[in-house]
Amino acid sequence: MFDVLIIGGGVIGSAIARELGRYRLKVGVLEKNTDVCYETSGRNTGVCHGGFAYDRGSLKAKLCVEGNRIMGEVARELDFPLKRCGKVLVGNTQEEYDRLQEVIAQGEANGATGLRMITEEELKAMIPGVKGSFAMLSENSGILDPFLMTIALAENAVHNGAEYFLEHEVTAISREDDTYVVTAGGETFRTRWVINSAGLGCGKISDMLGIKGYKLIYSKDDYIILDDRLGRDLPMPIYTVPSNTYMGIHVTPTTDGNVLLGPTAEDTDNNSWYGVEQKNLDYLYEEAMKLWPNFTRGDYIRTYCGILPKWVDDEGRIQDYKIEILDDIAPNAVNLVGMESPGLTASVAIARYVIDMMQEREKFEENPDFDPIRKGIERFSRLDEETQARLVEENPDYGELICRCQKVTKAELLQAIHNPLGVHTVTGVKYRTRAMMGRCQGGYCQMRITRMLEEELGIAPEEITYAREGSRMFFGKVREV
Ligand SMILES: Cc1cc2nc3c(=O)[nH]c(=O)nc-3n(C[C@H](O)[C@H](O)[C@H](O)COP(=O)(O)OP(=O)(O)OC[C@H]3O[C@@H](n4cnc5c(N)ncnc54)[C@H](O)[C@@H]3O)c2cc1C
Repeated sequence: MFDVLIIGGGVIGSAIARELGRYRLKVGVLEKNTDVCYETSGRNTGVCHGGFAYDRGSLKAKLCVEGNRIMGEVARELDFPLKRCGKVLVGNTQEEYDRLQEVIAQGEANGATGLRMITEEELKAMIPGVKGSFAMLSENSGILDPFLMTIALAENAVHNGAEYFLEHEVTAISREDDTYVVTAGGETFRTRWVINSAGLGCGKISDMLGIKGYKLIYSKDDYIILDDRLGRDLPMPIYTVPSNTYMGIHVTPTTDGNVLLGPTAEDTDNNSWYGVEQKNLDYLYEEAMKLWPNFTRGDYIRTYCGILPKWVDDEGRIQDYKIEILDDIAPNAVNLVGMESPGLTASVAIARYVIDMMQEREKFEENPDFDPIRKGIERFSRLDEETQARLVEENPDYGELICRCQKVTKAELLQAIHNPLGVHTVTGVKYRTRAMMGRCQGGYCQMRITRMLEEELGIAPEEITYAREGSRMFFGKVREV
């Protein structure tokens, strides 16, 4: 019997699990995938937004501004990369200038700070090679590592007692007296509270709770990833002038120095197809060239896409976040619908908002043992030579480089393989260490890493999956040796 069961272990579900650790509660997370960042939380731009591009007074605006404000403290406690590098929105026409003035006024009304117009001269001094006649600067915007943020929240939740059930897809929910009975992964769970933070699956879970009628549409966003040598020349993200529902194509550095070009924004009915079409690569090239023509097609190293769940009204207008407890239909159930951008930035603020709503109905006892600190895997390649030498002396596995492009050692990979969530996939190791994220995309190290998974976990090669369930790496031997 759980006090709270959270459906969906993305950044929002994991933030809720982590924040619930502050109270004496038995918390479980049911996640259908083999890791916590396989859906939207691992398929975004990784920008810590300022909160200016959302309707005045909306929940999106309020929770984004608050999420941005607390992000520094959260990143320090949980040890994930955050750079408060600022961001610019560039324009060229009088109409765009006027729109940016409106964006500043809207942002200030939302509580966002550090917003101002800058001249072409200032812009070009900040970002060499950028195109644009003027820009709006958001000083408090930044970039973060979305994989490590989600993993860090989940690991800290586990450290404080939460239980994660990976590969547990929720298929049914019923209510018996004061208890929810949840079927997931062929097992039955009982809980007093249930939270729907299922991202793209929020509509289905809402229906299971008896809260019917939400109309959801899905926006598919494609990206190109550029080589990490380019990030050195791009100190902050460059955006175009946004509307309140679409940010436009942007050029964004990652915390590891890669550069992202994207996103496209296409409506889709299929919210689980993650392919990227050539026509979209061509479109992204053309559009990104208009903002920052400092790259060539030879700098491409990979493509990816993310899909956003958007809640719309009958006329198709995109709605604000819906976070509700409907006492008469589904008591003790928190229903989160349409948690699109800026859900990464806002995640911890959303978690606290959700818990406040729960506490209006039940006062939770504080947990004096809550420990907000989580330590990530130390990146050997970023340490000074003296520390590297000491580590190699203490543990020779630090002396063995497995991923040559990203300079990831055997010691780091072993820590990733034995991660606290029990994730046993190839990308589980990749997202935790950056191994296989370099120019060769694992061409040199992937086979060594799968062999390490085999040996460390005592499993057969056929049991190793790349990422999702069924994404097998090996199907049998080509020949006996
Ligand atoms: C292209 C793109 C760019 C973005 N850029 C930014 C950005 O720069 N900054 C920002 O702040 N935000 C950004 N966002 C938004 C942000 O990524 C999302 O708002 C956020 O990740 C949502 O988190 P989540 O936990 O709700 O969703 P998810 O990560 O999708 O988590 C939901 C989880 O629920 C699980 N699940 C679903 N159904 C079930 C079920 N039946 N049983 C069990 N588990 C289930 C899924 O497997 C998934 O892991 C972007 C989004 C996209 C798509």
